[in-house]
Amino acid sequence: MTSETAKYIVVGGGIAGVTCVEQLASQNTGDDVLLLTPYPLIKAVTNFRQVSRTLEEFVVEERNVETLKRVSPRVRVIQAAVTKLDGEAHEVHTADGRRFGYGKLCICSGATPKLLAKGNPFVLGIRDTDSVQELQKRLVGSRRIVVVGNGGIALELVHEVRDCEVIWAIKDPSFGTTFFDSAAAEFFLPSLRNSSSPGASGPSRRTKYTTSPGSTAVMGKLAGGMAGSALGPDWQENLHMQGANDTRRVHIEFECEVEQICEQKPAGIAMRERDVGVQKQQAVEDSWSVYVKLSNGAVYGCDFIVSATGVRPCTQPFLEGNELIMAEDGGLLVDDHMKTSVPDVYAAGDVCSVSWTRDVHWFQMRLWTQARQMGAYAARCILADSVGEPVDLDFCFELFAHITRFFGYKVVLLGRYNGQGLGSDCELLLRCTPGVEYVKLVMQCGRVVGALFVGDTDLEETFENLILNQMDLSAYGEGLLNPCVDIEDYFD
Ligand code: FAD
Repeated sequence: MTSETAKYIVVGGGIAGVTCVEQLASQNTGDDVLLLTPYPLIKAVTNFRQVSRTLEEFVVEERNVETLKRVSPRVRVIQAAVTKLDGEAHEVHTADGRRFGYGKLCICSGATPKLLAKGNPFVLGIRDTDSVQELQKRLVGSRRIVVVGNGGIALELVHEVRDCEVIWAIKDPSFGTTFFDSAAAEFFLPSLRNSSSPGASGPSRRTKYTTSPGSTAVMGKLAGGMAGSALGPDWQENLHMQGANDTRRVHIEFECEVEQICEQKPAGIAMRERDVGVQKQQAVEDSWSVYVKLSNGAVYGCDFIVSATGVRPCTQPFLEGNELIMAEDGGLLVDDHMKTSVPDVYAAGDVCSVSWTRDVHWFQMRLWTQARQMGAYAARCILADSVGEPVDLDFCFELFAHITRFFGYKVVLLGRYNGQGLGSDCELLLRCTPGVEYVKLVMQCGRVVGALFVGDTDLEETFENLILNQMDLSAYGEGLLNPCVDIEDYFD
């Protein structure tokens, strides 16, 4: 029997779900909006600022669910995990045995880390506040950790860890390939090796993540071991990532994957310790909690392993009995109205995968900014569909735009900043001042199709416009990045 009904139900108290609820409630349609989330804390966007047409910055706060109810009297929040979707009956079932009927449903259940070895007590994934606290706790007594993965989380973690040796295993020939090319990686190398370099002590990233006082107290109430909302920008700020060694040392193993994880040193295999400078005595070799064998033959003993090898969308509760079309990456496939293949069921944020390819300069990446944009746009689509009105694809999906901070440097990513999906006919224009700035333009047929700006370049707005208007810049050649030309003034 249905316990409750609501015209709109949103699943998940992360940034996508909360933004969706706020947007649905803001329209004063008089309809009930129900949020189902297993966690007593939700993520809220504050101090939102539109930096340019597509670039945005904001602060993210973790708040008690009660604050969401203040948005509108029509908003209800129920702390419960969804265990099943009955798309035909327009119902969701929760772990506590209740059923909730909906008119339209938006799934914003996020994603969980893909763990290298699930259940292994020496392998840690980073996703929510709980997992970061566990990482800190373990670091306190650690001399060496192995970090596996080459995305943003691995990058930040390797940079932040103090007084501990870090073996960083990545499958690519250079680090940070999700965000930058090998030349940019070279630019960051001094900051990586010595985390007290100028870049490292720069101001905090613009989009912030804060935790409300008392949040730890409610943490223990998390239902059934289910993950809370993903962390986000600045998750490592003010957290002491301090180990038990007297120095910090980073050693990168390129182009390799983890082949084996075991609690005993693999027999007959020589440990590779030469590059990391630790003592080589047998006693040290045998004293590690866990050993990692890499595909390049290297074996490292360590205190624990951080698995930062990407995320898997949380789709499981919604699949059985429903004809949900899934994307190759495991996300719920959504059309350009954020609709899944089940009638009246929408999805937004990390759980979904977009199927549209309309705007050549935009692509999906599981980022905080996109979770917010998708949550807001899904709500607009839901409201428009409810009254049979058309809705255009939001302009934020015209251009991939992201501001972040790596190693203390401001980093702006625009369009196909790494030449993603482009043919061999694109060329790169580069300008680099070590320790100060790294500027890269991706050009195709004389037009800018992507850009990466590291440092305080102030070039983002000009090149955002040049990517959007696709002006033919062939005549300018390499002069486009001439530091003596005030490019902003020139194209104003
Ligand atoms: P989530 O934040 O994962 O929220 C999902 C919500 O759904 C949670 O509340 C969860 O408890 C709930 N839920 C799950 N299953 C169910 C269920 N069955 N029933 C009910 N509720 C359910 N992005 C950036 O842009 N910049 C960064 O620098 C950055 N750094 C990051 C660092 C870390 C360590 C991590 C883990 C992520 C980082 N991200 C970053 C990514 C960003 O945090 C995510 O893209 C974003 O938070 C996704 O938001 P979401 O609302 O889709 O999902």
